[in-house]
Amino acid sequence: MAPRAQGKDIEIALSIDPTTPRMVLGDGARVRQILLNLAGNAVKFTHKGGVGIKLSADVNTLIFEVLDTGPGIAPERLDAIFAEFEQADGSGGRHNEGTGLGLAISSRLAEHMHGSISVTSTAGMGSTFTLRLPLRIATGGAPDAPPDIDLDGKRVLVAANGPFEGRFISQRLVERGADVRLVSHVHGALAELASATFDLVLIDCGFGPEETRSLGAVARHAGVKQRLVLLSPYERRNFGSPAEAGFDGYLVKPVRSRSLYERLSPSDTVKSVQGGAHTVSAQTAVGSLSVLLAEDNDINALLARKLLEKTGARVTWVKDGSSALAAALAAIHGTGPRFDAALLDVRMPGMDGKAVVQHIRAVEAAVQKTAQETAQKAGRIHQPMLLAAVTANAFAEDRTACLAAGFDAFIPKPLDRNDVSAFLHRAAALAETSTKAA
Ligand code: ADP
Repeated sequence: MAPRAQGKDIEIALSIDPTTPRMVLGDGARVRQILLNLAGNAVKFTHKGGVGIKLSADVNTLIFEVLDTGPGIAPERLDAIFAEFEQADGSGGRHNEGTGLGLAISSRLAEHMHGSISVTSTAGMGSTFTLRLPLRIATGGAPDAPPDIDLDGKRVLVAANGPFEGRFISQRLVERGADVRLVSHVHGALAELASATFDLVLIDCGFGPEETRSLGAVARHAGVKQRLVLLSPYERRNFGSPAEAGFDGYLVKPVRSRSLYERLSPSDTVKSVQGGAHTVSAQTAVGSLSVLLAEDNDINALLARKLLEKTGARVTWVKDGSSALAAALAAIHGTGPRFDAALLDVRMPGMDGKAVVQHIRAVEAAVQKTAQETAQKAGRIHQPMLLAAVTANAFAEDRTACLAAGFDAFIPKPLDRNDVSAFLHRAAALAETSTKAA
């Protein structure tokens, strides 16, 4: 539905309550048919604002709500629309293409599944269709839950002009402990940025590309550590580079909680902290870290080893990309020494640093997935390695390309002691949290 909604310049957003069971037993095709009918109508009849789709659960009942800011339905028509061949204007003339059968079929399907469809609406103010289905919760084989992140004490500004997306995102962030301010106007966002310090801002490009770019710039000047822009695929093509506009990342609308949380997970959040004032506690034990160093130039390698070893870290040095990959994969599979972090030269003969990292990230993801499926809480799950790109090309676009490839940090050459130490502190903090989690 998203392309159709975004194509007519209305919003479409999704919100799944975290307590919703991840897998239930039922007729998926029929549920999909009903949802498509309800969401299709909402998109069809709404010309301003948008459509929000919510999913939650009440004991064994799944509750799907389709909300819109469309024309609404007059009270005397509310019952009739579920009858066959009914179209709500009641004039008998056909104003919209459609058969007038969709809701009749949907409500019968819902009844066959021992559920129901109901509607509340206020003329001129939009409608809410609610589908309730009693479905048994299935055990086992459920898809992965989104990553569990802790945003306790984080101050977040969400600026969005549509009726649903900003609200839904704010709700997800509040559930994870964030302190959220939601604003729906550019001037409101400016006032917030002037009066408070935020750790994170999310700005919806629905304000228009110019306004969104200026807000990004203001947020950067205000010292906000992480700045994300929400873009529809269409807006993304026209917006230009988020990095140039002062953002350090974007999320595609409708935003899924998984993407949101992944964007905000520690290895992602710290990206923007890197290079600025970092606030990792001084007690973290950098001294016990095991670090992989990939560098083909002997002199650079010597310098890097010296810096790393001064902190007490144990260093394994390899001279090219394929040896780095081999060492990292052995660590992931538990067949070789473990590494907490790696410093990889971006330019190496043969396989370059970016290719190595892409490969490592893919294998880590696969291993984690199987570990979660099979071992669950039992065995030790491999923690993603903290990976730094080391390069002499210290331009913003190199940085972006490295982060996009899966690096967590970017350390310019010649190596600076503070950069290396900041990176190792991050690795130590991560190692500490993963031990706690285990
Ligand atoms: P149709 O094929 O005409 O859309 P439906 O049975 O799906 O048939 O809907 C019946 C009528 O209910 C529609 O013609 C429309 O007048 C009204 N209706 C359904 N959904 C909405 C909505 N989200 N907003 C306003 N009117 C709606």
